[in-house]
Amino acid sequence: MVALYRLNMGAVKMIRKKMVTIPEEQRERIDFVKCDLCGKTNPSSETDWSTGSFDVKEVEIRMKFGHMYPECGNGEETRYHICPDCFQTKLMPWLKEQGAIETKTDWDF
Ligand SMILES: [Zn+2]
Repeated sequence: MVALYRLNMGAVKMIRKKMVTIPEEQRERIDFVKCDLCGKTNPSSETDWSTGSFDVKEVEIRMKFGHMYPECGNGEETRYHICPDCFQTKLMPWLKEQGAIETKTDWDF
């Protein structure tokens, strides 16, 4: 494609343009997450196991520790990927056997 542009002084400057192929951008995204207990896969998220449009099924089990200073911080985070079924049928009963008492809160918006 050729375009002519008239500059302030009346001179004509020719700019030649061409089509170029810009390489596709690649980003890392979650392919799937497997439940650490039963192997069930979740295709979209580490914590959101919802299957329907209006479903809410989120499980997050993690421990984070280290040091946090005003200007920096470091540490380590440990996560388990547990599906809602295993959370209810395996983890909760085991925690109850250990003497843990769950905290339940209602939520709405
Ligand atoms: Zn599971």
